[in-house]
Amino acid sequence: MVNYKLLTPGPLTTTMAVKEEMLTDHCTWDDDYKSITQKIRQELLELAHADKDKYTVILMQGSGTFGVESVISSVVSDNDKLLIAANGAYGKRIAQIAGYHKLDYVCHNVDYDKIPDAAELEEIIKEGGFTHLAMVHSETTTGILNDIESVAEVCKRNGVKFIVDAMSSFGGIDIDVQGLGIDYIISSANKCIQGVPGFSFIIAKRESFLKTKGTARSLALDLYDQWETMEKDGKWRFTSPTHTVLAFAKAIEELKEEGGIEARNRRYSKNNRMLIEKMKEMGYEPYISEQYQSPIITTFSCPENDFSFSEMYEYIKERGYAIYPGKLDGMNTFRIGNIGEIYPEDIEKLCGIIKEYSEMKGMI
Ligand SMILES: *Cc1c(COP(=O)(O)O)cnc(C)c1O
Repeated sequence: MVNYKLLTPGPLTTTMAVKEEMLTDHCTWDDDYKSITQKIRQELLELAHADKDKYTVILMQGSGTFGVESVISSVVSDNDKLLIAANGAYGKRIAQIAGYHKLDYVCHNVDYDKIPDAAELEEIIKEGGFTHLAMVHSETTTGILNDIESVAEVCKRNGVKFIVDAMSSFGGIDIDVQGLGIDYIISSANKCIQGVPGFSFIIAKRESFLKTKGTARSLALDLYDQWETMEKDGKWRFTSPTHTVLAFAKAIEELKEEGGIEARNRRYSKNNRMLIEKMKEMGYEPYISEQYQSPIITTFSCPENDFSFSEMYEYIKERGYAIYPGKLDGMNTFRIGNIGEIYPEDIEKLCGIIKEYSEMKGMI
């Protein structure tokens, strides 16, 4: 048995009640099961502040990338042109997906510690004749939080469809999907809703999405076809991840009990502020400046050159927590996530362990 908590940005630490939901083997074509799927779809709409007549929800088997790929490959037609704004590995992954499907696309790369600028994107859109724009909200690569509000305005103004990878933020940061007019927003079961891995979900604007029938370039990831089947009575097209679905339904219930996204955001933000403060006291500086730092995950630079991540990781793991390696070339960094069933006591304990380790190694 594993005896550590995850400080990684999904999968993350879930509650016992969420895990216990998976002790049942549920039939998939049964009405009870289909109504669970429908309930989840309805609740996701509510979390997105979206009305049923304007937006719809599609659940898609697989991890988050499957959801992103299903959108990119199913809604951008051969006559469309996609602009991707990337300031991290997940933005670049969208470009990689566009490449696999041979879409007409341009990837606008931004430094990892900066956010894509809305005015600059507007110029690129106008000059390049783009029809779609895709970007990541919380770039988990570094922990930077991109400004989707300003970019949504630009998209609206220019009649461009806006695709948002909100994988690591949806449920942890309140997003007014309908108010912002976002066309497609993607997240997955094992991030801030605090479920377990197994499917992703897409909240789509009906007006845009219903015109995409026949655009998909993959059978398994055909977003429209998946929706058409699910919309009838809650049935999934192919085998659904039943245990994950049950756990997810429970996770949404717990999110509501906690007080909704607002309350969850408060807890995550408190964890994050406390983490950064304590790490700074030890000399570990966050890579992202305070104004752009998300409350989800933080990248820290290490003060020592001969720092060994794997050694520190093992030391911390033996004491009850799993942290995350860095993802920046040529820099000594590591990441700590603070989402999931994690509370200030955990941050306190973790920082105590890091302090002990750092002192032992003569780093501080
Ligand atoms: C987790 C994550 C994904 C999806 O990754 P998977 O490994 O496929 O679940 C995509 N984008 C972002 C920003 C993420 O944090």
